[in-house]
Amino acid sequence: MTAQRIDGKAVAAEVRQQVARQVEARHAEGKRTPGLAVIVVGDDPASHVYVSNKHRACEQAGVLSFRHTLPDDTTQQALERLIDDLNADPRVDGILLQLPLPAHLDERPLLERILPDKDVDGFHPYNLGRLAQRLPLLRPCTPKGVMTLLAASGLKVRGLDATVVGASNIVGRPMALELMLAGCTTTVCHRFTRDLEAHVRRAELLVVAVGKPGIVKGEWVRDDAIVIDVGINREADGRLVGDVEFGPAAERASWITPVPGGVGPMTVASLLENTLHAAELHDAMAPASPQD
Ligand code: NAP
Repeated sequence: MTAQRIDGKAVAAEVRQQVARQVEARHAEGKRTPGLAVIVVGDDPASHVYVSNKHRACEQAGVLSFRHTLPDDTTQQALERLIDDLNADPRVDGILLQLPLPAHLDERPLLERILPDKDVDGFHPYNLGRLAQRLPLLRPCTPKGVMTLLAASGLKVRGLDATVVGASNIVGRPMALELMLAGCTTTVCHRFTRDLEAHVRRAELLVVAVGKPGIVKGEWVRDDAIVIDVGINREADGRLVGDVEFGPAAERASWITPVPGGVGPMTVASLLENTLHAAELHDAMAPASPQD
C-alpha cells in the first residue's frame, strides 16, 4: 500500500494556535502571560537558528520570550548564577538551555539546576522519572510531539508492537516511556542491538531517532506499519533526509512522517505547550492572596 503522510507542519500549526487561544483565555481571566527564558552560549549557527525559531513561535503564541545570549567563554559558575536568577524570576515559567554547550561546560549539572517545574524541555531526572512512573508532568518535547502527531492522525496505539530505534536521553528513551505509557509493547534498539532488521520487521509502530540516513531500509518495514522518522540529516547536496529510506518504506507502511515536515515542527509546538503547562503549575503553586 502507499502510506498516508502525517503532516507535522499542519498539526504543529494547530497546536500553536491552540496555545495562543489558551494564552488569550488566561488574559481574559486576569492571569499572567506565560514566559519562556532561552539561554544560548557561544556562536554555533544552528543553535542560534533554533533559538530564533523558538523566539518567533513564542511571539506568535503570545508567550513572553527572554533570550539570554552569552559569549563562548562563559563560565560554569556564571551559567549557574543565571539559572538561579531565572529559577527565582516569577515572570519565567520555563527555562531552556540550548544544547550543545561549548566543550568546557558540563551540561548535566546545569540541566539539573533548572527547577523541575520550569524544566520545559523535560530533561530533568525528576520529569523523566515521573514519565517512567506513569505520572508525566513536563514531558520531553520531541517524544511528546510524536504522541500528538499519532493522536491527531486518529491512530490508536494501545497494544501495538512498537520498536524505537535510538536510545538517547532526549529522544529514544523518553519515546519508549511514552509508548509504554500509551500501552505499546515496546522494544528499544541502540548501538549494541545485534539484529536491528529483525526488530524493525516486527514493528507495527516504528519510531527511528538515530541520525544516520537510511539506517532503516524501506524493505524492512512491516506491511501497514506506522513509521515515525525523527532523524534529520543534511545530505551533501543540502537536502534534508530522515533515518528511514522514505520511498520504499512509504510503499509498505500505512502512515509515515516525511522529513522535513513531519516530526521536526512538533518540537517547538510541544515546547509552547509545556511553557503554558508550567504557567498553570505556577498559578496552582502561588500562595493564595488574602482576598481569595
Ligand atoms: P543521539 O544523541 O546521537 O542518539 C542517537 C541514538 O542512536 C543513540 O541512542 C545510539 O545508541 C543510537 N544508535 C547509534 N547507532 C545505532 C545503530 N547502528 N543501531 C541502533 N541505534 C543506534 O541523537 P538524538 O539527539 O537522539 O537525535 C537523533 C536524530 O533525531 C538526529 O538526526 C537528530 O537531528 C534528530 N532530532 C530531531 C528532532 C526534531 O525533529 N525536532 C529533535 C531531536 C533530534 P547508544 O545510546 O547505544 O549510543
